[in-house]
Amino acid sequence: MTRMLISFDIDGTMEFGDPPGGVTVEMVKKAKELGFIVGSCSDRSLGAQQALWDRHNLEVDFVSLKHLLSEVMVKFEAEKYCHIGDRDLDQQFAFLAAFDFIWNYDATSEPWLTWSDVSGSQSDYSVAVANGVSGKSR
Ligand SMILES: [Mg+2]
Repeated sequence: MTRMLISFDIDGTMEFGDPPGGVTVEMVKKAKELGFIVGSCSDRSLGAQQALWDRHNLEVDFVSLKHLLSEVMVKFEAEKYCHIGDRDLDQQFAFLAAFDFIWNYDATSEPWLTWSDVSGSQSDYSVAVANGVSGKSR
């Protein structure tokens, strides 16, 4: 099965970051439900990142320090790897680790929802999302 991996920066990217960003816990949950491997990659300690996800009742597949993004790729087999962040440094670390990069403000439209469309292995749920059944305007 085609697998996609998304790494979320926290501060300036996630709604619970400091400062808050535009990516919501619901968006991450939806990506997880689509079968994506999801987690965070931040300057915060691993424990602090895990605590934030726990507080929002979201079981993530990984937490990582930002400069160790390449280790996430080694650990998980996926067809596509992407990091989402709000700083030039996010973009630099993403490129160094051979991840795609999406700016935090572009991520609010959940561009990853279309990724499974091209894989030919999309679930009924992703079809529903792609058709706008989820209620999210795209
Ligand atoms: Mg940030």
